[in-house]
Amino acid sequence: MGAKTIAVLTSGGDAPGMNAAVRAVVRSAISFGMSVYGVMRGYNGLLNGDIKEMNMRSVSDIIQHGGTSLFTARSPEFNTNEGVQKAADFCRAKGIEGVVVIGGDGSFRGARDLCGAGIPCIGVPGTIDNDIACTDYTIGYDTALNTAMEMIDRIRDTTESHDRCSVVEVMGRRCGDIALHTGIAVGAMATLVPEVPYDFQRDIVDRMKAAQQTGKRHYIIVVAEGVGHTQELTERIQAATGIESRATVLGHVQRGGSPTLRDRVVASRMGYHAVELLYNGASNRVVALKGEQVVDFDITEALNMPRIFDENLYRVSARLSI
Ligand code: ADP
Repeated sequence: MGAKTIAVLTSGGDAPGMNAAVRAVVRSAISFGMSVYGVMRGYNGLLNGDIKEMNMRSVSDIIQHGGTSLFTARSPEFNTNEGVQKAADFCRAKGIEGVVVIGGDGSFRGARDLCGAGIPCIGVPGTIDNDIACTDYTIGYDTALNTAMEMIDRIRDTTESHDRCSVVEVMGRRCGDIALHTGIAVGAMATLVPEVPYDFQRDIVDRMKAAQQTGKRHYIIVVAEGVGHTQELTERIQAATGIESRATVLGHVQRGGSPTLRDRVVASRMGYHAVELLYNGASNRVVALKGEQVVDFDITEALNMPRIFDENLYRVSARLSI
């Protein structure tokens, strides 16, 4: 049957809503009659024995906070066969029969390896980038989108006052979802994403000139981090158009802040689902949102799924943005 003692950890990049997921895991486990440990600083906590037994009150007053109260880390030691074995041995010594891993693709590879060493694991997608193929939604994404939108609205005020062009870099190394959605939400004149190549003259300079003909005097261009060279691009735009242009890199501001309602609710539902899976004896699964349904997939299958970029929405955004 299912696990009686489980553990929960947050790993890799932090995301707003991770606390809501931790809270859901702890409270669900206790409601199922399980014991639950919080593991500190990702997989590192399993390697150095840094865990604490959680009760109902351990997760009070965290649902509204960004970051992760269990802290997070990248663990090079765990990323070795010896590290995985050491973590599995520690779990066995403590009677831990299941681990909920809240993190991104890298953390799920770790969870798959820990399963291979005999410890059942369930992944819960937590990353602001929305870059996990098996799920329509990752915890933290909505908060990051709203933060980016609000920041760009502020940038727009000053851009407008000075008749400038602002090039704003948002997060997303391999995935343009934050750029695409904030680009639409702020009415960006152009949005550049890693998934779609762009032509500097056609997609930026010609569009700016055409917009200028219709009376436009200020411009917002949103660029995903993965496209790169934001400062250089900004200088090229100024040189090609004569319009004063400034670059802003939003950076880690997008990682923080109080999670939105959507992030809190999705995190709560996913955390509950993860515990239910362990309670029912499941292992090696990733929790996902498909449409509005919480579902789960085999971790290895999930890691092999191709990520699909919404090219149709990208085309719509280009039509709206001139
Ligand atoms: P994210 O989960 O946000 O994608 P990382 O890619 O940094 O973040 O992964 C977090 C941690 O997961 C790593 O520091 C490492 O301990 C573990 N990990 C990543 N990839 C593997 C792997 N292939 N095998 C075992 N553990 C891994």
